[in-house]
Amino acid sequence: MDFELSKQQIDIRRHMREFMEREVEPYAVSNDRECKFDWSIAKKIFSEGFLGGPVPEQYGGLGLDYIAYGLMTEEVNRVCSSTRTLFSVQTSLVALTILKWGSEEQKQFYLPKLCNGEFIGCYGLTEPEAGSDAANQQTKAVKDGNSYILSGQKTWISNGSIASHALVFATVDPSLGHKGITCFIVDTKTKGFTAVPIKGKLGLRASDTSSLFLDEVRVPSENILGGVGNGFKVAMSALDNGRFSVAAGAVGLVQGCIDNCTKYAMQRKTFGKFIGEHQQVQAMIADMVADCEAGRLLYLRAASLKNKGVRNTRETSIAKLFCGEAANKAGHNAVQIFGGYGFSDEYPVERFFRDAKVLNIYEGTREIQRMIIGQDALGIRYANGEDVQNRQLLVATV
Ligand SMILES: Cc1cc2nc3c(=O)[nH]c(=O)nc-3n(C[C@H](O)[C@H](O)[C@H](O)COP(=O)(O)OP(=O)(O)OC[C@H]3O[C@@H](n4cnc5c(N)ncnc54)[C@H](O)[C@@H]3O)c2cc1C
Repeated sequence: MDFELSKQQIDIRRHMREFMEREVEPYAVSNDRECKFDWSIAKKIFSEGFLGGPVPEQYGGLGLDYIAYGLMTEEVNRVCSSTRTLFSVQTSLVALTILKWGSEEQKQFYLPKLCNGEFIGCYGLTEPEAGSDAANQQTKAVKDGNSYILSGQKTWISNGSIASHALVFATVDPSLGHKGITCFIVDTKTKGFTAVPIKGKLGLRASDTSSLFLDEVRVPSENILGGVGNGFKVAMSALDNGRFSVAAGAVGLVQGCIDNCTKYAMQRKTFGKFIGEHQQVQAMIADMVADCEAGRLLYLRAASLKNKGVRNTRETSIAKLFCGEAANKAGHNAVQIFGGYGFSDEYPVERFFRDAKVLNIYEGTREIQRMIIGQDALGIRYANGEDVQNRQLLVATV
């Protein structure tokens, strides 16, 4: 096991940290207060080429390995969870899904434009009656000549109102259950497609989250991603990538709490001492540090499996569960360390506290991750499939 980072991994992490501190941090509070998706920041991200992290260079990406991508994601979320959501959806849920399931034509058409921000993607799986129970898709796709007509509703869709293209999951035949689900790449300018932003969110206020309404939206058959009836597999494989970026982002949030708390604790005095000299404050910081380092190792292990092309649903779920919980604990204790000042947006920990909650809700709740991990441990359903060779390889990496 080698814990050394390559020069490329160190460089991209440093580059992203500098970018986030210079271009995003100064506006993070005001964007959060105004619930504003900041296009000027987004455009700077596009022009840096950051959106194409692990997408191969031949399709316009940076061709990074997953360790570099994870470190980069962590740095984004160390400053701003809303900005990280833009990345995770665009890169992990949309571009990497097209990379895995797309035809050569689809890859050549969509990926370069997703990498340079000309296209913005969203991932439309959740519906009012299909969240954790994602196979219960009610959106219908009816074949009509060389097209499908899509009707239904999606909700809680990140990037929904800013997207130029949506991955929409719909059933071609409800009697087939999850085997009827099909993934369509939908141009959001198509007649019948409407997006309505969701207001009043607890966190991620500078990220767009919307409901999507599809009223007889005509989509050419050539826009099917991964084949008719394969949509559930497409959706789940996308989540393997999405959950990875959530885990890395959660570690970034914990690191943000540590950086802010250690600074504040050696400035603020009570009883004639810095609060950092009180053991109970040290204990809260120590827990954050331990969780941060453990969480980082977990997502990096998932990254190393991704780099080898080995199935990693189990390891990614473990990382997402642990890091999401760690972020919530860190956000909670960070506000505590700041006392009354932690209760206002004068300091970022208040935003970290609110933004942490979604980490154990989206891309599979905490309970769904526990279900995946628990069923795997009990042999009820192996998260990485029944492939014995694959399991042996994984055991060897533990
Ligand atoms: C800010 C935000 C952004 C989002 N972005 C996207 C996006 O871009 N694309 C997208 O498709 N979705 C997105 N989502 C939706 C998100 O993935 C769902 O909210 C999530 O999967 C949970 O579904 P639900 O809200 O319907 O809750 P439910 O499924 O109704 O769950 C409610 C509660 O019951 C628990 N529960 C449900 N089933 C079980 C079970 N079998 N065992 C134990 N407990 C269970 C859950 O863990 C949860 O605590 C987003 C959500 C939010 C809040």
